[in-house]
Amino acid sequence: MPMPADQFLTREQIAIQQLAHEFARNEIRPIAMKLDHMSDPKDAFYMPHLARKFDEVGLHAMSIPEEYGGGGIDDLFTHCIVAEELGWGDRGVVGLLLSSNKITRYLTARELATPEQCRKWLTAYVEDPEFLIAQCMTEDEAGSENLLPYDGVDGGFRTTAVREGDFYVVNGVKRFISNSGYAKLYFMYVRTDRTKGINEGSTLLMIPLDTPGLSFGRVHDKMGYRLNLNREIIMENCRVPVENRLGPENYGISRINSHLRAGDGLINAGAMLGLARAAYEAALDYAETRKQSGGRLVGHQAIGLKLVEMYSELNAARAYVWQAARMIDNREHAPVDLKMPGSASMFAHEMACKVTRDAMEIFGGSGVMRELPIEMYLRNAYNMLHSDGGIIMKKLKVMRQLNLEAGADINVD
Ligand SMILES: Cc1cc2nc3c(=O)[nH]c(=O)nc-3n(C[C@H](O)[C@H](O)[C@H](O)COP(=O)(O)OP(=O)(O)OC[C@H]3O[C@@H](n4cnc5c(N)ncnc54)[C@H](O)[C@@H]3O)c2cc1C
Repeated sequence: MPMPADQFLTREQIAIQQLAHEFARNEIRPIAMKLDHMSDPKDAFYMPHLARKFDEVGLHAMSIPEEYGGGGIDDLFTHCIVAEELGWGDRGVVGLLLSSNKITRYLTARELATPEQCRKWLTAYVEDPEFLIAQCMTEDEAGSENLLPYDGVDGGFRTTAVREGDFYVVNGVKRFISNSGYAKLYFMYVRTDRTKGINEGSTLLMIPLDTPGLSFGRVHDKMGYRLNLNREIIMENCRVPVENRLGPENYGISRINSHLRAGDGLINAGAMLGLARAAYEAALDYAETRKQSGGRLVGHQAIGLKLVEMYSELNAARAYVWQAARMIDNREHAPVDLKMPGSASMFAHEMACKVTRDAMEIFGGSGVMRELPIEMYLRNAYNMLHSDGGIIMKKLKVMRQLNLEAGADINVD
């Protein structure tokens, strides 16, 4: 299947899509399955090596503004087409792109970061090819309720930060955190007023990797998305300079999130398109070569119909993701329908589960064998129903935006 295109892609977008595709074909595909099969989840994490390669081709700092030495690519749509190519290589490697986008969104938000913070950390990111960040919210006792957000004093992340002079003393444990233990900078959501819920009593701090009191616990052993490391973070009397705070103290989670770009979850949706495309291509190829009952599989109507459905669902999801991303990019010139990014993201995640399952059926028994990537694609797709807030939270957000009574007041993007 050729790389996706439409008549509105610019020459620059086609060039970066090609670059990302070649990176995926040359650097990710040859190692993805081997890493995925590592029994120790720590061994599947090959990001330092891949990050250096990513830097060599000019993609490591692609989101970072040019004034700090980055690629200066700000639009969401280009992020989605790059994510699709990386996701075609392996779903976990998309973390490289998410990292540069996230640090850019946090530090270029004028209400959150000072010009000094912005310059210091974005420059550090560009200068170090292995620089990745982690975004740290989830804890044992607090997952979805951070995103709703549930504003009860009893709910939300429990990690505390107590002011002592020019420092915050941070204590708590986060879990499931991507890039944990490897990332050079941790965007840590903490409670600074325990008498209030997370909308009034929480603060965002940046904690560098070498901060005393910061350590790392168990590595989570996931069913899929194994090239992306998830690990616990432990803070024991971790002293963080006040100058590392983003925004005012007790600014609260909803206000913090309101300064980030709505719709950025579409980058993950773009990656799901790439994962589904990989499964569709493999299934089509297999159906064209495998012979059963006197003919190629593709000649049997049941298989042909399945391939038609897969092709249509994939293209429908892409059209929706692209439309939503372009709408966000054009937000200053035309009205924005904020229901669309969450709905498109949810649709792309569900589509990838359906397409990878159909691919497995086309492969028959071979589809569940570990020498082929089909079962890995399926594991990766279903794994992603529980990342980035999870599929239910995505739907609840759209429900709220549709003004349906049952909708919740949530922030998942
Ligand atoms: C691969 C992966 C990577 C991740 N990376 C990060 C990361 O980098 N940083 C980070 O902070 N977190 C990360 N997470 C955490 C992820 O965002 C959480 O798993 C998610 O927020 C859900 O929290 P939970 O797992 O505790 O589920 P719970 O909150 O316990 O929810 C369990 C189920 O109930 C549903 N549910 C909960 N509350 C409601 C409600 N009010 N109404 C309806 N349904 C509800 C949920 O949708 C879910 O399906 C990651 C998770 C995974 C799997």
